[in-house]
Amino acid sequence: MSLPSVYYITGGAQGIGLGIAQALLADGHRVAITDIDEEALSAAAERLSHPEHLLALPTDASDETQVASSFTKTIAHFGRLDGIVHNAGIADPFHGPVEQLSLDTWQAYLNTNLTGAFLCAKHGAAHLRPHGGSIVLMASSRALQSEPDTEAYAASKGGIVALTHALAVSLGPEIRVNAISPGWIEVSDWQKPSRQQPVEHREIDREQHPAGRVGTPEDIAALTRFLLSKEAGFITGQNFVADGGMMRKMIYAE
Ligand code: NAD
Repeated sequence: MSLPSVYYITGGAQGIGLGIAQALLADGHRVAITDIDEEALSAAAERLSHPEHLLALPTDASDETQVASSFTKTIAHFGRLDGIVHNAGIADPFHGPVEQLSLDTWQAYLNTNLTGAFLCAKHGAAHLRPHGGSIVLMASSRALQSEPDTEAYAASKGGIVALTHALAVSLGPEIRVNAISPGWIEVSDWQKPSRQQPVEHREIDREQHPAGRVGTPEDIAALTRFLLSKEAGFITGQNFVADGGMMRKMIYAE
């Protein structure tokens, strides 16, 4: 196995981010997770394996001072940085009709989902450069297609896809930058205890995926792990859809 690397994950206390943290720790790496939810951070620190390799930092991913400080703390603690995953997001895409959408709500989506990615690149790049580092940004299949009443979410994720190729061109060749666009990922088992709710999928939920099931944080963690690794050394500026094939299924109204 390769030497342990150090990874920084935003929104790492729950859901997909927690799944990614678990996978990287299981590989023997060092991981800093940041999250705005301190209760979730404590629960994550108890749940994750290898707590001695974990740093949990309360951080609002949309606040520049806090982001800069969490990178400083990560370097002080682990001594280096090999990869960044900007995964923090307001993950519920539905905000109601656009004509009633407040500017504050619109900006909240953009601030966490998109500006958070910019802040990671701005404050993390200098630390990544010496090691040929990698950045993975969490977009969404909703960057590419929509249901009604999801404008702010869709715009924030479309922005991630564009930011990905812009950063790849600016930060290469030392730093690679890729995006992942998950489809429907079931994160209910990966929440802090007070947020856990049992979820049952219907047959129709599974059947609309050519892969035959809804996705899991492990599915996204597997792709993230690959994109962070040196094995993905010729891959940059791309957006990878991981949706069980759902977007490829043609639907005709009956
Ligand atoms: P989640 O709500 O389970 O986890 C998101 C985490 O981000 C939470 O711990 C939350 O506290 C944290 N967070 C929110 N705002 C933050 C901020 N300002 N600063 C720091 N942390 C913050 O959500 P999830 O489903 O795991 O989603 C993770 C990412 O994946 C999001 O960017 C989401 O848009 C994207 N995504 C999810 C799905 C899905 O089906 N679950 C699909 C496509 C994309």
